Amino acid sequence: MTDAASQPGSAVVTAAPPAGAGPTEADWTAAVAAVRQLPADARVLLICHVNPDGDALGSMLGFGLGLRRLGVRRLQATFPGPPEVPEPFRGLPGLDLLVPATEAYPDPELVVCFDAASESRLGELADRLTGAGAAVVLDHHASNTGFGDVNLVDPRAAATSVVAEELLARLDVPLDAGIAECLYVALTTDTGSFRFEATTPAVHQMAARLLATGIRPGDISRRVFDTRPFGAVRLFGEVLGRARLEPAAAGGHGLVWTYATQDDLARHDQRPYVLEALIDSVRCTAEADVSCVVKQTTTGEWAVSLRSKGAVDVSRVAVALGGGGHRFAAGFTGRGTVDEVVDGIRAELPGALLNPTNA
Ligand code: AMP
Ligand code: MN
Ligand code: MN
Repeated sequence: MTDAASQPGSAVVTAAPPAGAGPTEADWTAAVAAVRQLPADARVLLICHVNPDGDALGSMLGFGLGLRRLGVRRLQATFPGPPEVPEPFRGLPGLDLLVPATEAYPDPELVVCFDAASESRLGELADRLTGAGAAVVLDHHASNTGFGDVNLVDPRAAATSVVAEELLARLDVPLDAGIAECLYVALTTDTGSFRFEATTPAVHQMAARLLATGIRPGDISRRVFDTRPFGAVRLFGEVLGRARLEPAAAGGHGLVWTYATQDDLARHDQRPYVLEALIDSVRCTAEADVSCVVKQTTTGEWAVSLRSKGAVDVSRVAVALGGGGHRFAAGFTGRGTVDEVVDGIRAELPGALLNPTNA
């Protein structure tokens, strides 16, 4: 065990990288050292962001399976909030690593965070950062605040799993089918199944490495993206039927939006996760650059998803309204009525145009 990994406050601290640059060699070296120098009985806690998506869960569990291969025995993975894994991810390898947030080690020797741009995305688990010997952050949000002792943040990476794969390689952990399936789910989630701009040659090369382990992309995609209960199909019909198109919004680039309430979910006997896929149906709208789904989480509170096709930086809108995300995919927590939430978005759109003179 190094001092770095065992003593709070003495961890190897690397300076936050300049915006846009990926991790430095010093960052990678520090991250590798934080893992390699753990004693045999060290407790390691993996945390991903609240309301976890495929990248959060996939990069965390894939990395966790890699640590297990390295011989780490006291290993937990967790996320804030209710310990419910959304149905599409219930086939992921490594789910046995998951524990409810309430059972997570209070003061582990090492914490590793996945896909969270800031401590606020770790909810009630943020206190583990101060209780830990060292905190390593793996992420790809340009807005990452550098809240770890070691920050492996690459805004050019298509998914956090890209960073996780590189760290596993530097730890000499070979890919096996379990690790590969987790990283593949993460990569396909965040690239929209290789459709988004971040789908570089390097992304396809990584996919090739993952597929070479023998994982079955057809089965995985069907489970993760193309399966939902009949009640969710009916719910989508209703919610899409109330979508509104505002061609004049966003400087004439157009806004399309809809909303779903808890009552909608209850009427169709559905869990909130089914609403995550809604934005993909709404953002198809040809007449709008910006799309939005407002999902009620509790009375007067809404999880808002924003997408753009390129005219608007929706992360600016989300940040202005207390959230975050990427240029073309962002979100925030809205408060008030649906109309108040959408009014707030509409007001921020003109200031978030990427090329206002062409509006
Ligand atoms: P979603 O629409 O939930 O798929 O989220 C799209 C992106 O926005 C994700 O990459 C998140 O990083 C970010 N995001 C969503 N909700 C929030 C939030 N409440 N606070 C900060 N970032 C968020
Ligand atoms: Mn995510
Ligand atoms: Mn991600």
